[in-house]
Amino acid sequence: MAEPVSSSSVAIWRVAVPVPLARLFDYRAPDGHLPSEDDIGRRVRVPFGTRELVGIVAAIGVAGADDAVGLRDAGPALDPTPVLQGELYASLAWLARYTHAPLGEVLATALPTALRQGDPLPATHGWAWRLNEAGLTARTRLRAGRPRQLAEFLAAVPGPVDEDRLDAEFAASDTGWRSAARALAQRGLAERIATTRAAPAALPRPGPDLNPDQRAAVDAVLGAGGGFAALLLDGVTGSGKTEVYLHAIADCLARGRQALVLVPEIGLTPQTLARFRARLGVPVHALHSGLSDGERARTWVSMARGEARVVVGTRSAVFLPLPEAGLIIIDEEHDGSFKQLDGIRYHARDFALVRGKALGVPVLLGSATPSLESLHNAQGGRYRHLRLPARAGAARPPHVRVLDVRKRPLEAGLSPELLEGVARALEAGGQVLVFKNRRGYAPVLLCHDCGWSAHCPRCSTPEKGTPMTVHAAGRRLQCHHCGTRRPAPNACPDCGGLALQPQGAGTERIEEVLSARFPDVPVLRIDRGTTHGRDALEKHLAAFGDAPGILVGTQMLAKGHDLPNLILVAVVGIDEGLFSADFRAPEKLAQLLIQVAGRAGRADKPGQVLLQTHHPEHPLLLTLLDGGYAAFAGTELAQREVAGFPPFGHLVMLRAEARQVEQANAFLRAARAAIDSAADELFDPADPDAMIELNGPLPAPMPRRAGYQREQLLLSSPTRRHLHAALDVALPAIHALPEARKVRWSLDVDPTDL
Ligand code: ADP
Ligand code: ZN
Ligand code: ZN
Repeated sequence: MAEPVSSSSVAIWRVAVPVPLARLFDYRAPDGHLPSEDDIGRRVRVPFGTRELVGIVAAIGVAGADDAVGLRDAGPALDPTPVLQGELYASLAWLARYTHAPLGEVLATALPTALRQGDPLPATHGWAWRLNEAGLTARTRLRAGRPRQLAEFLAAVPGPVDEDRLDAEFAASDTGWRSAARALAQRGLAERIATTRAAPAALPRPGPDLNPDQRAAVDAVLGAGGGFAALLLDGVTGSGKTEVYLHAIADCLARGRQALVLVPEIGLTPQTLARFRARLGVPVHALHSGLSDGERARTWVSMARGEARVVVGTRSAVFLPLPEAGLIIIDEEHDGSFKQLDGIRYHARDFALVRGKALGVPVLLGSATPSLESLHNAQGGRYRHLRLPARAGAARPPHVRVLDVRKRPLEAGLSPELLEGVARALEAGGQVLVFKNRRGYAPVLLCHDCGWSAHCPRCSTPEKGTPMTVHAAGRRLQCHHCGTRRPAPNACPDCGGLALQPQGAGTERIEEVLSARFPDVPVLRIDRGTTHGRDALEKHLAAFGDAPGILVGTQMLAKGHDLPNLILVAVVGIDEGLFSADFRAPEKLAQLLIQVAGRAGRADKPGQVLLQTHHPEHPLLLTLLDGGYAAFAGTELAQREVAGFPPFGHLVMLRAEARQVEQANAFLRAARAAIDSAADELFDPADPDAMIELNGPLPAPMPRRAGYQREQLLLSSPTRRHLHAALDVALPAIHALPEARKVRWSLDVDPTDL
């Protein structure tokens, strides 16, 4: 073949575009641009179909003029230097492989919204306030009030006062300082000025002296010598974990390094931030969903530039650049909110460990009720296990009583004994929390007379009953594990009673019944319906005050805001958790019970906890009451091992939804065949663990949502390697299935909701 007559070569950018296609797309780099490795990680606008998208340059290349004929032109790079680079880029590329998600979607997920949309990098200077001449003379004539107080404060401190410091100083006040500052500015008395680099917020305030257990924990973190180590800080609420974090962070800052603290969504309260700010003496940046896109982008960029030194953030903060990383902390590491349930289904705790390893920094996981995964890692010696066995203060553990509600008349699911307990607590001048456990469990059928519930005859074992869930408006039972179906019985097979019912009364009904019964005290319902966002919760609880009253709520109330006068916690709806088809339900229930019980009582006022159940003899309750969380975790881990569930086996969930259930089913059957043949291809007779078990297609726990029928296929294997290898082979075929066009489908590696 003859050489082309004239072949000037063309520079190519291979761009990771945020579309659900697992490949890169080639574009011509702008004319005259000399491609270099430095282009990788820069944002670029590219035409895509009829749209224009912001992608990330993932590779560079050259093409002959002939090959480049069909290529479209990329716009100029949006950034002078890559926004994603070094360790972060490499870790994200790893995450794309691990989640089997397109690199373009993973990179887009990691960027704050404003940057994802192509906005220019924001300025990262901070803001400070000072009084001007007029303000200095006028301040003494101001009326008493917040503006006067702020003016006095600004006058007393030399130089402009950083906004972070004002946040820390006025954290305890409910109105804050911002409206006062605006008032002063409007009257021409104060001004807001940009600061190039945020000055120290305040002199660090000393904390209490560490007790020996805390000291040992801090020493273990510092002893990691700045290299990677995973440490599990296992200590009950109030045992002083946060003090350990603060010391470790202070040391990290003193070494000139950045620290990242991940907290659950409900854990990032103004009080938490104020405590960090006051104690560390440097600006502490918050990152959560309540901030504007601009604020989020600013924090992201100032971390990338090394200006921000400490960030406390929720799940997505795990994607922050850490060019001078020194420490990563995950508080409440067991919390479900660290797992993203849609889009790129990453687990922030697990990804933080990947990053910590790549960055060579210690990762400290803290919890009063560690996840079984982390406990297993600690027992296997992969994590250092640090314990804080005692409460730092003098508070005594609450007294727990189990109420047997079989055959008791229930009102909105509340037994007479529970209502009596509430009445007594109110008479004693205390506050009551009626806690309704609700996790969107699939309903199970329960006999109110004897506590019988339906179990799968095919896959229940002496160790573990597999519950059947209620489908088809109560007429059918189905096993979530093997698919066995049978009609729902009309009478209880054990006692012959007719009191069979799917579980659960809502919080509204509970609120109604309590309001009618206790008309003289406030009854406040807190759930997603009444309360949006962390500030709303704080306001509601502040308004609730200390006087006798009843709080009714769900998971949102399990922690947060301190309620010193709370003397009774009554928990209802735990039976759904005891018999859920989700193998993680017992773990979640045990964590929740420990957490919510911990809210009752203080040093001077011992608290009481009432647990209402049809199963007072259930091993989970007995173990938990007798031996606490550690005993529960031991038994539960043994059962997981028998069943081959995580952390002893590894799972991947393939989900599909469609208008017609048959479409979802057909897709999953075809996908199953593709995975089966991939597994056959990879089969190695010398490796007995090299097997993949497939369960499904089966209806999802919530089989219908928003007009869609939802089905799922569960993959499990004793080894991760085999799951991933089989998916690498099968996924291109699954993407190409004709059945795939009729459904919405997604892949979830390490699913947490089954
Ligand atoms: P956790 O994070 O485990 O819930 P905290 O660190 O918030 O615990 O500590 C609970 C309370 O005990 C806080 O008021 C804290 O100031 C106090 N505290 C913690 N450590 C000590 C200590 N070594 N000496 C005295 N008080 C302490
Ligand atoms: Zn019965
Ligand atoms: Zn079964």
